[in-house]
Amino acid sequence: MFKNQYLSLFFVGMILSACSGAEENLSDDLSGNEPQVEEAIDHHSYSNVRDVRTSHLHLNLNVDFDSKTISGSALHSIENITKSKTMVFDVYDLKIDKVILDGQFETTYSIGEKDELHGAPLTVDINENTKNVEIFYSTDPSAQGLQWLNPQQTSGKEYPYLYSQGQAILTRSWIPCQDTPGIRITYSADVKVPVDLMAVMSADNPTEKSEDGRYSFKMDIPIPSYLIALAVGDLEFEPLGERTGVYTEPSMMDKCEYEFVDVEKMVNTAEKLYGEYKWGRYDLIVLPPSFPFGGMENPKLTFATPTIISGDRSLVSLVAHELAHSWSGNLVTNATWDDFWLNEGFTVYFENRIMEEIYGVEYAEMLMQIEFEGLEFENEMILKGDHPEDTKLKLDLEGRNPDDGMTAIAYVKGALFLKTLENTVGRVKFDEFLNKYFDDHKFQTITTEIFLAYLDKNLLKPNKVEFNTNEWVYEEGIPNNCIHIHSDNFDKVDEKCQKITSIYSALELDVKREDWSTHEWIHFIRHIPAEADADDLAMLDKEFHFSNWGNSEIMAEWYLVAIEKNYDKIEPYMEDFLIHVGRRKFLEPIYGELAKTKQGMELAKEIYAKARPNYHSISYMTIDEILEWDSI
Ligand SMILES: [Zn+2]
Repeated sequence: MFKNQYLSLFFVGMILSACSGAEENLSDDLSGNEPQVEEAIDHHSYSNVRDVRTSHLHLNLNVDFDSKTISGSALHSIENITKSKTMVFDVYDLKIDKVILDGQFETTYSIGEKDELHGAPLTVDINENTKNVEIFYSTDPSAQGLQWLNPQQTSGKEYPYLYSQGQAILTRSWIPCQDTPGIRITYSADVKVPVDLMAVMSADNPTEKSEDGRYSFKMDIPIPSYLIALAVGDLEFEPLGERTGVYTEPSMMDKCEYEFVDVEKMVNTAEKLYGEYKWGRYDLIVLPPSFPFGGMENPKLTFATPTIISGDRSLVSLVAHELAHSWSGNLVTNATWDDFWLNEGFTVYFENRIMEEIYGVEYAEMLMQIEFEGLEFENEMILKGDHPEDTKLKLDLEGRNPDDGMTAIAYVKGALFLKTLENTVGRVKFDEFLNKYFDDHKFQTITTEIFLAYLDKNLLKPNKVEFNTNEWVYEEGIPNNCIHIHSDNFDKVDEKCQKITSIYSALELDVKREDWSTHEWIHFIRHIPAEADADDLAMLDKEFHFSNWGNSEIMAEWYLVAIEKNYDKIEPYMEDFLIHVGRRKFLEPIYGELAKTKQGMELAKEIYAKARPNYHSISYMTIDEILEWDSI
């Protein structure tokens, strides 16, 4: 069973560390106390990776849009460390047909009881000399890691579309695998899709459609299972630079090429900061709008939401974020989802440094201040809620969905921890440290404890710096020494905000839409005075057209303030937005704000009934909870 298995793993870990400790004592070396990755316990996987693990995975898959299933086989080349007689995989609603060992022997297996969150363990009987395990299977049409779109839900409206989303624990719903970030594997795949469609993966990719719908993929660099990704659709490819390019539907291509003009420059800039880009190509795929996240850092091929296509290149920091994951997250990976801040905090810090290099200090400061305001708000909310301990960087998500850890704490508190460290030791030393950190841990998984020991040894001790590391990582809330980010540009915006309630026309503000960046407009909307009412909003909307601006970040921010102040002119636009955009970051606060009043709740449910079929499970599971939606 689930819990017992972890207990036994835990004790093995205790014994192993006790043994190594004893040896170290004999050799008079205190470094034996250093934390080891083997001590990490992944509460979200059934797999027995300490005993036996996959080293390479080959997928042979057929993608069938009519039945909304993927079927075929997953061939695992394995390393049997403890000569185990069983190998445990994670599965979620997979139909297993048979399991073959070493290409010839059909073996026995059992599937344990299913848990709604984790799925079930698939225990395969092997022997100590088994070299590979091939699992023949098919997916369920409701697989949470796969989003099947009908032509209406795409940009071109002519062909169906499929994409996968593995993070955090959804890969097991379309591939039987040891679904833990604690181990890394290489993979290859042969994928058959309908003729007319192109398949791409987080691997070396085709640039043109094949004639027979067959595609082969190779990922020679070891990655965790949550980064295996597939998308199938009416796709085109255009290069952006020597080693960068974009995939999307033909009707989106011109807009994407315009928006991503700086991507090649970003890769070069990131390399200058933190060392060589180790993944070969960096391409993006811009997906249909139901994609639940802004972006997903699938290696070699970032998956991105079309909501970043703003028409004015103002939301490309998201690309810098996903690109930065090529170092933090993909190169050095959190060992468990409790260490998620190691992936995201580093990435937000790094993203900001890339933006600073390319667009200047003022731009980066605006970005960071907006992030900081979001953090303050979310920190307060979490502290008042059922899990105030979620404001610690190191989490304890046992028995909970790892998605619960996807808050501003991991992202922004994590980044500010690093920024505060940078401010304490100076940028030159901090950059040297980060370069060494990425290099020393490349293609490894890492725990918070390993990072902290490394930080102490390589940055704090050599520079004789005292730092409240434990408070930052293991205590709730934001420490007092958190660096204060201040953008002068926003001071000018604040001056305009003060005038809103005392003017009769927004023309008196003497600012035009094109005068300010997206960040300045977001700041403006967030700082509309508390005493402003629906009439003030109508006055602003008449001049600036916030309700249907076209830029998703600005519109989402506007809807929040409009709901609060009962400015009901937004309703048709907001309904259209909620039906067409599936990005959880926007949906969660808007539905949350609506749900605060009885009338708002009614409207939310009315819209949600139309919008829900367009959402990915990651999004609708969150919104179901907010609206107490009965999906049965
Ligand atoms: Zn990220």
